[in-house]
Amino acid sequence: MVNERSGQKTDKKFRFLVTEHLGDDGLQILQDAGDVQLDVKIGVARDELLKILPAYDAIVTRSGTPMDKTAIEAGTNLRVIARAGVGVDNVDLQEASKRGIIVINAPTGNTLAATEQTMALMLSVIRLTPYAHASLKMGEWDRKRFTGRQMSGKKLLVIGLGRIGSGVASRCRAFGMEVMAYDPYVSEKKMQELGVQRVTDLMGSLSLADVVTVHVPITKETHGMINEKALRAIKHGAYLVNCARGGIVDEAACAQALRDGRLAGAAFDVFTQEPPSADHPLLADDLTDKIVLTPHIGANTVEAQGEVAKIAVSNALSALRGEEYDHAVNLPFMEQHLNYKQKNFLRLARKMGILAAKLIENDGGPAVKCKVTLRGPFLCDDDTPGNKLRPYTVAALKGFLEVTHGPDANYMIAPILAAERGIEVEETTGEPRTYRNVIDVAIEAQNATATLTGTITEEGRQHIVKMNDYWVDFVPHGQMLIFQNHDRPGVIGKIGKLLGDNNVNIANFNLGRKDTSGLALAVMEIDGTVSDELMSTLEHDVDMIWATTVKLNGETKE
Ligand code: NAD
Repeated sequence: MVNERSGQKTDKKFRFLVTEHLGDDGLQILQDAGDVQLDVKIGVARDELLKILPAYDAIVTRSGTPMDKTAIEAGTNLRVIARAGVGVDNVDLQEASKRGIIVINAPTGNTLAATEQTMALMLSVIRLTPYAHASLKMGEWDRKRFTGRQMSGKKLLVIGLGRIGSGVASRCRAFGMEVMAYDPYVSEKKMQELGVQRVTDLMGSLSLADVVTVHVPITKETHGMINEKALRAIKHGAYLVNCARGGIVDEAACAQALRDGRLAGAAFDVFTQEPPSADHPLLADDLTDKIVLTPHIGANTVEAQGEVAKIAVSNALSALRGEEYDHAVNLPFMEQHLNYKQKNFLRLARKMGILAAKLIENDGGPAVKCKVTLRGPFLCDDDTPGNKLRPYTVAALKGFLEVTHGPDANYMIAPILAAERGIEVEETTGEPRTYRNVIDVAIEAQNATATLTGTITEEGRQHIVKMNDYWVDFVPHGQMLIFQNHDRPGVIGKIGKLLGDNNVNIANFNLGRKDTSGLALAVMEIDGTVSDELMSTLEHDVDMIWATTVKLNGETKE
């Protein structure tokens, strides 16, 4: 392993604890790694776990090991929690983020398994396969009763066109279905590539589809998405499949729609409460021939189990080794995956956050809102999921919090810190104006608002072009003195003299004026530091309204 301080290689090994059965492929990676010391303690008791956790750099779990606040506190040396699977309900993400522990999952490992299970459910319910099977096993030979429907030529509505939804869409197209998709967060380009028709009115499209399949995560927005109202909008005699998450479909309302004949059939792999109770509405005897139910086995294939273990373990190992890794669920974005230009905008946004904090630090009071507006094609790429903040917004927030909270405000905890401090974070996108791609940052505090506009030139130079409504133009770099002054003759001369007398050299100077306001805003890049005493002289003896200094490190161009 590499010593974090010296950067030198040491003989010390990364200590991994595995507490649940993992696919062999995953375990093999850890057993083969020369820099890993592995302990497998399947089903370790909670007390024992809390005792041994301080020894480990990483823990690999499935859903059966609660990594709650107490466990995370016990893992004083933990740097990674890896979940061999998708859900991270057993991990206290907030607590892990506060302690800088990376939480990794394996969301792609079971995509194919869940896609194929959706197809199995869809075909089973439409062709009545399980009922025909049960009938034959009972000694019957009833071919007429099991006359199903054909997929080809029918309309499918996919709700949620992510990994699994896309896989289902392309397989159903291969079956000859016409596919519509409802997913406001997916780009037109992706819909076109998949050959599906975008629909924006969920209720309207429900009335057109012969088969509806949901593939959204469970969120505030999607909870109860297919409720009584949606089920009344659905085309008479349609089929419904839920192989995503329990709670997206109102199960009682679905049972009633089946009973009324509004739905011809439904198939569920997931339930609001798992396992469902004996009196669950979908288990009612009168619905037996219209419903196919499986016990949340969407991810259960040998291949998927091996794949999730491999993904979780190899990413955990890479994270510890300081190499590139994927699927950190508590990082708002993966900096290493950004390209050069994106990283440059990221650094600019962070500096804008710092500058905004400095502009209001004296009498602004507590911040209440951080608003970031991204303008221009490069910054507004529409593949960013609509429910996630873009990296630039998080970077501006981080910069702001570095000043108000301290240097440990990293990308992981910046959104959490903002929420804890009651700072609303708003990200919007807009049309570019003077510059092709610009970031607007506005921090609203109780008594003041700081606004900045920044851009990057074609050569890659960061520029701040507007600050508190003053047009300026400076490169945010190095040691800076920023002040607002009465726009009178001689003021700048006095300031220059005072700085010179105190051995502070002016490397760059930029002045912005606002018509008729009688005020100006100046930004100086200086060599040397402005002492508290000099600052106080500047503020009192010269016509300054306020002044602040800021040191911006980080490159303007790389
Ligand atoms: P994904 O993140 O790749 O895709 C989810 C899609 O839903 C995204 O495209 C997103 O834009 C879209 N979405 C989010 N909110 C939406 C909304 N309000 N309206 C419309 N679209 C919305 O996820 P995935 O890997 O494809 O998984 C899809 C679902 O399948 C998840 O609920 C996941 O938990 C579930 N899943 C189930 C099993 C199983 O065992 N049955 C296995 C794996 C995944």
